[in-house]
Amino acid sequence: MDPIRIAVVGLGKIARDQHLPAIQGNPAFSLAATVSPDDPGPVGVPHLARLEDLLNDGPAVDAVALCTPPQVRYGLAAMALKRGVHVFLEKPPGATLSEVAALRDRAAKVDATLFAAWHSRFAAGVAPARAWLSDRKVERVSVVWREDVRVWHPGQAWIWEPGGLGVFDPGINALSILTHILPRPVFLKTATLSIPENRAAPIAADLQFCDTAGADIHMDLDWRQTGPQSWDIEVETDAGTLKLSSGGAVLTLPTGTEHADDLEYAGLYARFANLIRGGRSDVDIDPLRLVADAFLRGRRETVAAFHD
Ligand code: NAP
Repeated sequence: MDPIRIAVVGLGKIARDQHLPAIQGNPAFSLAATVSPDDPGPVGVPHLARLEDLLNDGPAVDAVALCTPPQVRYGLAAMALKRGVHVFLEKPPGATLSEVAALRDRAAKVDATLFAAWHSRFAAGVAPARAWLSDRKVERVSVVWREDVRVWHPGQAWIWEPGGLGVFDPGINALSILTHILPRPVFLKTATLSIPENRAAPIAADLQFCDTAGADIHMDLDWRQTGPQSWDIEVETDAGTLKLSSGGAVLTLPTGTEHADDLEYAGLYARFANLIRGGRSDVDIDPLRLVADAFLRGRRETVAAFHD
């Protein structure tokens, strides 16, 4: 079978750190081109400034991976789908729910694959956590996602703009795990969004969810953390406590702790290849819907200005 010719669009941090190595490490794909406005691209690969240049005049591609900020993703995805090109959407899949729904419908019409990728669901501890919880009674959940925005997002102006999600940019990773491992649907009860007086997006959020059986789920998101960083989920059940730490990489069950190598993006690209070969899409909007609910129903408080 010929490899899937793929272009990576938006050569920023995640494209360079994860997408290029994952594509180069998967024989189902061949890297056909890269696209980014202000970047010369990697040596030895055709590089174009704009996606329309690639689709009109560049090397032929079967698929694109959109690694841009979310605010421009819809236009790029729609352009690719119009040519019948399969699309991998980095998380979050769009800046609004309605544009993701429009893309899903468009992909179905043109028989192209649309993959809304949630990389944290491919962290090593997540699949076994989901299996362990599947027949347990969940009593209480605590999510603590506290990191230093200056370390992880230096100079990323888009993240503070509408559609950039602020602290929900990392927080949606926790929601992608939560909505995958808990056996029941989750919905929002209350939220407080802390928005710096000079920014449009929250720097912190305190959220209370519950599942359909009434179990309390508390989520603490904060970008002002210095010192040790936390990406932890604790689930109390009738059979003891499950803990996922380091963003899902480390799983602790009442029987002990399991660590495994980071294979999130290898897993994502294996899934994307399978979807393309099988003529299917995978567009789960649950994590983005919970973020939208927080913006719909959350109380906003203004906090001190944030300066890079
Ligand atoms: P980033 O470093 O700011 O990179 C974004 C890249 O997209 C930049 O190179 C930018 O070019 C380019 N770009 C912007 N508009 C474009 C367009 N119309 N066509 C082509 N390229 C365009 O951001 P990032 O951290 O990689 O994050 C990108 C996405 O990946 C976000 O949705 C984020 O949530 C997700 N993600 C990030 C991480 C992470 O650890 N950073 C992890 C997982 C997922 P210019 O700089 O020239 O504007």
